[in-house]
Amino acid sequence: NELPADPVTTNVVRQVEGALFTPVQPTPPDGVPYTISYSAQVARLLGLDPTECERPEFALVMSGAAPLPGARPYAACYGGHQFGQWAGQLGDGRAITLGEVVNPATGGRWELQLKGAGKTPYSRRADGRAVLRSSLREFVASEAMAALGVPTTRALSLVGTGDKVLRDMFYNGNAKMEQGAVVCRVAPSFVRFGTFQLPVSRGAGEVGLVKMAADWIIKHHMPHLEAEPEPYLGLLREACRRTGRLVAQWQALGFVHGVLNTDNMSILGLTIDYGPYGFLDVFDPDWTPNLTDASGRRYSYRNQSEAGQFNVVMLGNALLAADLLSREAATEALLGYSEVLSDTYGQLMAAKLGLKEYDRTLAQELMKMMYTDDADFTNTFRALCDVGSSEEGGSEGPAGQQLPGRLAAALNRGQPLSEERAAAWQQWLQAYRARLRADGTPDAQRQAAQRAACPKFIPRQHLLQWAIEAAEQGDYSELEALMQVLERPYDEQPEAPAKYSAPPPPEMEGRPGV
Ligand code: AMP
Ligand code: MG
Ligand code: MG
Repeated sequence: NELPADPVTTNVVRQVEGALFTPVQPTPPDGVPYTISYSAQVARLLGLDPTECERPEFALVMSGAAPLPGARPYAACYGGHQFGQWAGQLGDGRAITLGEVVNPATGGRWELQLKGAGKTPYSRRADGRAVLRSSLREFVASEAMAALGVPTTRALSLVGTGDKVLRDMFYNGNAKMEQGAVVCRVAPSFVRFGTFQLPVSRGAGEVGLVKMAADWIIKHHMPHLEAEPEPYLGLLREACRRTGRLVAQWQALGFVHGVLNTDNMSILGLTIDYGPYGFLDVFDPDWTPNLTDASGRRYSYRNQSEAGQFNVVMLGNALLAADLLSREAATEALLGYSEVLSDTYGQLMAAKLGLKEYDRTLAQELMKMMYTDDADFTNTFRALCDVGSSEEGGSEGPAGQQLPGRLAAALNRGQPLSEERAAAWQQWLQAYRARLRADGTPDAQRQAAQRAACPKFIPRQHLLQWAIEAAEQGDYSELEALMQVLERPYDEQPEAPAKYSAPPPPEMEGRPGV
């Protein structure tokens, strides 16, 4: 498309037709940008010496104050179903892709995207900016999820812009000025399900764009499909399977995305767009960290697999409408989503319980008890790693005291259980130990593998909140300490302060992801 000289200021709200993206430059902040934190790991992925991230120029580029030499930045055009309704054109309203970096050593191609570097033609009536609070949350989550082994977009840097940004605090009805910040996100591609949906919604004239987007993804990200007789079917299959696997991983970790709209679904099966996400503290399947979804709970923990199902069907519909595959083939590919999801979930739950195979009855019974007894999701599984297969769960002595110490601490917010509930747990533990003995894996070996499936450290809402509050005062030590602990989430890290694995204090419990 021919572009107006300044697409940003001349087109605040507009439809961008016949295009998958719009060239757009970041808007330099008024303030003086400063690097708050960076991921040395991501720098290395890019082939960048991490010390480069400490140069003042780095903050300039990663805030949009200075151009990245050779880059031709753009904002992507996509649509999406939001909370079940077709929402039309959305697009990168506050994300600008700078370009791709090729790691000279590995050949890996990585897209660099600034989130919060100013308006784009897709900003609608919003400001294209991001605040320290939300940017810090995205920065931490991206790296924590990667360390947890979950496919995700990464984050290279968190840079303060020196600007003040006005934000409505949805949860307390106040508007306040907050510090601006930009995250540099990194991924092989940020293409979303909605990338394929939008052209289809605009009719026959634009379906060619669907093919173009599909060809691009296949060529650059799924080249093994090029040789297949039906590469587009292969693409849908791959997207369904990756999404199924991703959602299973979320469920096994107690991660709740919060906004599973099709514009927030990566075609590569990455976790993308960390907004009001959260990890379960106390196990409540109906919990959602998204306050705007609090009554509907469309995207609660329990509903994530169904949300994923809806989303892959919408993707299938788009490819079907663009005539890239047959209805029968699409239907078959879509089945892959639930197949992979349940297979992966079973494998992950088996691993979390240290069992060779998934025992559905045992796992479901555990989840029911966790719900009844307000169990901390993460700490309960971690505590089960301590259980020995031959310990006697005897009936003598005061009830409750015989539960393994860490398990008792994870239940009922650390308060002693009633005799009846303690007995129920003893009974479950007996069945569990019997199951472990039947498997016959030596305890030490089983426990080591089990700990690699049950993280000790996750970015809990209150930990993020503490890091945010300190960072807003210019103290980044909390953020650094948190990032360091989250780098090795499955390690015991006995030197880490207890607060990093403790459930939230009562006043911080059930915090929304804001
Ligand atoms: P989200 O719910 O964060 O995925 O956002 C939905 C849409 O709103 C996307 O197209 C975003 O780019 C856009 N959006 C969200 N916040 C802003 C903002 N501050 N400025 C411009 N666009 C935004
Ligand atoms: Mg989004
Ligand atoms: Mg967003």
